[in-house]
Amino acid sequence: MLTRFAPSPTGELHLGHAYSAVLAHAAARAAGGRFRIRIDDIDGSRSREEFVAASLADLAWLGIDRDGDLLRQSDRLGTYAAALDGLRARGLVYPCFCTRADIAASLSAPHGPSGALYPGTCRNLSDADRARRMAAEPHCWRLDMARAIAETGELLWEEAGQGLRTADPLAHGDIVLARKDAPASYHLASTLDDTVMGVTHVIRGADLVASTDVHRLLQALLGLSTPLYRHHALVCGPDGKRLAKRDAAASLKGLRDAGVDGPALAADLVAGRLPAGYSLQNA
Ligand code: GLU
Repeated sequence: MLTRFAPSPTGELHLGHAYSAVLAHAAARAAGGRFRIRIDDIDGSRSREEFVAASLADLAWLGIDRDGDLLRQSDRLGTYAAALDGLRARGLVYPCFCTRADIAASLSAPHGPSGALYPGTCRNLSDADRARRMAAEPHCWRLDMARAIAETGELLWEEAGQGLRTADPLAHGDIVLARKDAPASYHLASTLDDTVMGVTHVIRGADLVASTDVHRLLQALLGLSTPLYRHHALVCGPDGKRLAKRDAAASLKGLRDAGVDGPALAADLVAGRLPAGYSLQNA
């Protein structure tokens, strides 16, 4: 068994991150398996080095040890670009020149699990139009979902303790795989990374369960392994709402500074015992 924790260094870790990290770590250790840490720093404009250091300090404080080197997404941009090239050569991605405002203004943009569904404006541009606009305009790369699904057919994944589920990538529409300002989306990078890291069990919050539709599709398109998934309940604060990075009271640094014992907190979290006022809720 190999599990992982993959923080995005865009803020301080909080109790919700700690819960995810200790579950993944404890599952690996209980099985005599391995646990790795990945830094999801693909978004260069939001990632900050100080949060990488702070996250690692928080995990060490909880008593979480890791196997192998830290994997940083910012070191793997070439791999992501190569995967995108492959999809481009197969006609499965297309450049999109729409701005957020263009998409929001489109009357035919209903919402899917990953936000507004892309109305397809740039899907059928001519090659000449594409070439001309690519030279002049910023663009992202979108997956042509209908074509992708035509290649893969129906896809299943296994949710621990719940059996097989059918992936529904079509519900996400033509998702972005590479952005104007980031060379790979979370979906593309994370799917490639989980395979290269040898992850057998993805243990993460229930807020990401819908992403698994897309991850399963990318695994099939790119010939990657499919781990087992366990999407755990989310930690909610005293107001009953899911914790966010802005909830300073639940920050691990804050708890550490207040003298909380890290390994004791980790043991409590594994057992499902949360500090007073916090609770677990399914998404
Ligand atoms: N960096 C992602 C996050 O913090 C990790 C998602 C995942 O575990 O796949 O939400």
